[in-house]
Amino acid sequence: MTPTITDQFGRKHDYLRISLTERCNLRCVYCMPENGIELSEKENLMTHEEVISIAKTFVEMGVRKIRLTGGEPLIKKNVEKIIIELTKLPINLGITTNGILLDNYLELFKKSGVKDINISLDTLKREKFNSITRRDYFDRVMNNINLYEANGFNIKINNVLIKGMNEDEMLDFIEFTKNKNVAIRFIEFMPFNGNKWNTEKVVTLNEILAAAEERYSSENIIKLKSKKNGTAKNFQIKGYKGSFGVISTVSNPFCDSCNRIRLTANGRIKNCLFSSTETNLLAPLREGKNIAPYILEGVFHKFKTRGGMTSDKDFSDIEKNSNNRTMITIGG
Ligand code: SAM
Ligand code: SF4
Repeated sequence: MTPTITDQFGRKHDYLRISLTERCNLRCVYCMPENGIELSEKENLMTHEEVISIAKTFVEMGVRKIRLTGGEPLIKKNVEKIIIELTKLPINLGITTNGILLDNYLELFKKSGVKDINISLDTLKREKFNSITRRDYFDRVMNNINLYEANGFNIKINNVLIKGMNEDEMLDFIEFTKNKNVAIRFIEFMPFNGNKWNTEKVVTLNEILAAAEERYSSENIIKLKSKKNGTAKNFQIKGYKGSFGVISTVSNPFCDSCNRIRLTANGRIKNCLFSSTETNLLAPLREGKNIAPYILEGVFHKFKTRGGMTSDKDFSDIEKNSNNRTMITIGG
């Protein structure tokens, strides 16, 4: 069926990102505020049965792609059951993970046919990994990237470049694609409540392309075709196995073609990563109501761009962004 979830500007929504948990086994500095976050009461979080039930309603309404995220989705209790049930639906299922626990799930992903695995990695250096994530899991993540590559998964590596933190590794990550069949995706650093963002720290699409051109020269950089509703602008160095791309939410937003809805671990939809309003689906679900009208209503009021922050001045205003949840509780 064609997607029925449409906003006031006519954008059709067929992609749902579900955050399975607010918890994480890492503490990435750009995602998790220094003082931690206030977690929802356990009884206010979706159970695995509720996740499946809500997902089914979205699929009946035309959603064709679901990505599991978090927090760290692989620490969710009963995540196996969620994966098995969701792969029975007529959708493409993917997962975004920090990679630490991936080895435990290799057989499950193979058996259930999940191919699209996005793994976050911001540095190729162990010491730096410890300082960015505040945990010592570099080897596990690297081993799991190798394990999944060897097993033929579609691997994207999410990398948030931040000036003064890891921007000096940008070209090392591009070089990483020489012999590895992975897609590096540089995500521009985005502002959320308590993550010490400012414009000067953002490494932009143009800066990344300029550095790549200086190193490889433009005739060796192939521009790859963009996917429909894709968020990244993608490139490949001639002769390299993998590719790289940039998600330019800050310098060059792609709101016009946005087809995404986010479901938080406490069962609310956010119609935009940057919106400060949410629609509760869990409460009506628990009251036995049909949640479809709530979904339609919640998405309909989506702003044209970045949660209503139309100008770059608004978007860079820390006050405005501090009304928004932290990324760890939205689900990236
Ligand atoms: N724990 C999983 C992981 O790290 O992949 C899934 C959740 S995490 C919130 C999803 C993605 O959001 C990660 O790739 C992470 O790098 C990205 N992210 C978190 N905070 C961000 C920020 N302030 N700006 C840009 N990307 C961010
Ligand atoms: Fe955890 Fe992912 Fe946030 Fe890092 S980016 S703290 S791994 S949720």
